[in-house]
Amino acid sequence: MADRNMQALEQFEQLAHNLEKVAPLAYVWHPAKPAVASPKPIGVTLQAATHGNEVGGIDVLNSFLRLLQSGIIQPPFSMGFAIGNPAGVKANRRFTERDLNRSFGQTAASQEEEKRARALEPLLEKTSLFVDFHQTIEPSHRPFFIFPYTKGSFDFAAALHDQIPIVTHWGLGFSKDGMCSDEYVNHRGGTGITIELGQKGFDAYHSGVGLQVALAAVQYAVGLFTGAPEKRSAPDPELYTWRAVIPYEEGMTLREGLVNFQAVSTGDPVGIHRGQTLRAPVDGWMLFPKYPRDPLAPPPKELYRIIKRIRPDDLGKDGVINR
Ligand SMILES: [Zn+2]
Repeated sequence: MADRNMQALEQFEQLAHNLEKVAPLAYVWHPAKPAVASPKPIGVTLQAATHGNEVGGIDVLNSFLRLLQSGIIQPPFSMGFAIGNPAGVKANRRFTERDLNRSFGQTAASQEEEKRARALEPLLEKTSLFVDFHQTIEPSHRPFFIFPYTKGSFDFAAALHDQIPIVTHWGLGFSKDGMCSDEYVNHRGGTGITIELGQKGFDAYHSGVGLQVALAAVQYAVGLFTGAPEKRSAPDPELYTWRAVIPYEEGMTLREGLVNFQAVSTGDPVGIHRGQTLRAPVDGWMLFPKYPRDPLAPPPKELYRIIKRIRPDDLGKDGVINR
């Protein structure tokens, strides 16, 4: 596994060899003749492996770079490409010292991921539109977009694919713990979103979906920057937000086989705690079920979430769970 991760990183370096290096494993590509002015110096930045073992996104970046290097695609603005957490990729772990995706927008620079966040922030600050390619720990019935709600992020995600659902949430200020990558881009005046491609690992379907999304991001950017945004093909995107967050207590164990986007009904048995059956408190769809698979990882803060379907009119309104 780690060998494959190293190969993917080496391919990334080779494919980016003639780009401007802005940090280790972070590059900016410039067009010969920039034909479209983006609001910030970099029109679109694609990032992968912000969590080191979510390596599927590296393949997406490599596929995109191959098309770029062969001239098959010619974006009319500069583009950024970054491997989020190379140390995590090499170790095939989510992170080595702390979660990179809770490390942006701070000043600390002693731990590995704090240093990496400081190294990537200048690139993210200069970025107009940002897509972070993640993967889930457990399998997922479908890929999905997930990000803190802003109108810009919502419009961006809704334009990228008409069959990938959007999970979004709002009502909570920025965490003192440190921001996610997409949050940080938003905070700096850009527009950031995250996509979960499916379960972590190299996967041809994830590469395909990810590449579609990356190409659509370029197309969307051209429309946005030239003042002629394309009409969304899905005026009513499939939209979800939190319905319940089930906190983890010591000894809680989910039954095997729960996956992301699995439908659950109130009362369904989902696990066990101190000899009692744990049951789903509400109807909806399961998100982020946690199993103790990594003996080195600290216990999770939450056991799983349940999401509910909403309509675009509900976005930003009261009555949702914040975290
Ligand atoms: Zn992730």
